[in-house]
Amino acid sequence: MRLGRLSSFGAASVTLIITMLLCVLTTQAPAHALPAWPSISQGAGGADTTTVQYLLRQHGHGIPADGQFGPVTTSAVVSFQSSRGLVADGVVGPQTWPYLIVPVQQGSSGEAVRAAQTQLNKYGFGLGVDGNFGSVTNSAVRSFQSSHGLAVDGLVGPQTWQSLLGSSGGGSPSGHALPLDRSAVPRSAYAAPHWNSTPAVDLIVSYLPAYAVKSGVAQHYSSTSCGTGVRLLQPDGSRFVYCHLSARSTANGAQVPAGTRLGTTGDTGNSGAPHLHIEIRTSDGLARCPQSYLLAIYDGLQPPSLTSLPTSGCTAA
Ligand SMILES: [Zn+2]
Repeated sequence: MRLGRLSSFGAASVTLIITMLLCVLTTQAPAHALPAWPSISQGAGGADTTTVQYLLRQHGHGIPADGQFGPVTTSAVVSFQSSRGLVADGVVGPQTWPYLIVPVQQGSSGEAVRAAQTQLNKYGFGLGVDGNFGSVTNSAVRSFQSSHGLAVDGLVGPQTWQSLLGSSGGGSPSGHALPLDRSAVPRSAYAAPHWNSTPAVDLIVSYLPAYAVKSGVAQHYSSTSCGTGVRLLQPDGSRFVYCHLSARSTANGAQVPAGTRLGTTGDTGNSGAPHLHIEIRTSDGLARCPQSYLLAIYDGLQPPSLTSLPTSGCTAA
């Protein structure tokens, strides 16, 4: 009898523990910390501004979605903030985004879907911004969620919105983005010398999204040493070279903003183990040390000009 009681108590405890564990597992935040919401205001332009405008339209503000954050957008933001009891400063930042975003998923339609499609296109998905959340948008959302450590449910809710809006620019200086998610490698990885005599940086990661550090023209590039690569061409003739990718995400010759997913890291070409090799070449053909440039982005500072970067002192050999 006594024994029987004990084991039924034991079984109840085990059930309780399992239930608690399941609760913890199902309510747990994603493995990656979410990036910070961007702060944008009058004078800004581009995809995040267009997103703000579509979301304001969703909330009934009849402004154009032209990607230019001018006085018309500012007054719509101020009016939206007042209506929600927020500080009416015209700045769309961490205070305002949670009120402005609207959850969307397959079957949704309207301006908030256009906003989500605009954000997804920052990552190279190439969706038609038609306001209809169909199966193509659904797979893009799931792919984004999977590559950003989010629950893969196809729902663009608060965490996915924050990740979409913040992953490329969160904590980075304006117009720049880290080549990998901030959580992918420690700061010291960007400071490490390159293993051979070529100025470059090797970031040891397997199969993760690689992003454009700056806007530019994404040109497909392949060689025996680089493997599957992408060159991010700059207007002055200099370029960032990404090597050893397992796949590319952008069309050859596409003009991309900073933070666009260029591809997935990998192990192609002359590579001993999966890693991302990044090289900076200026128009004179010289390879420049990328370390101080990437560290500035990591630290949220404006990076130095490419031509001011040293051509030696960053290699181990
Ligand atoms: Zn390398």
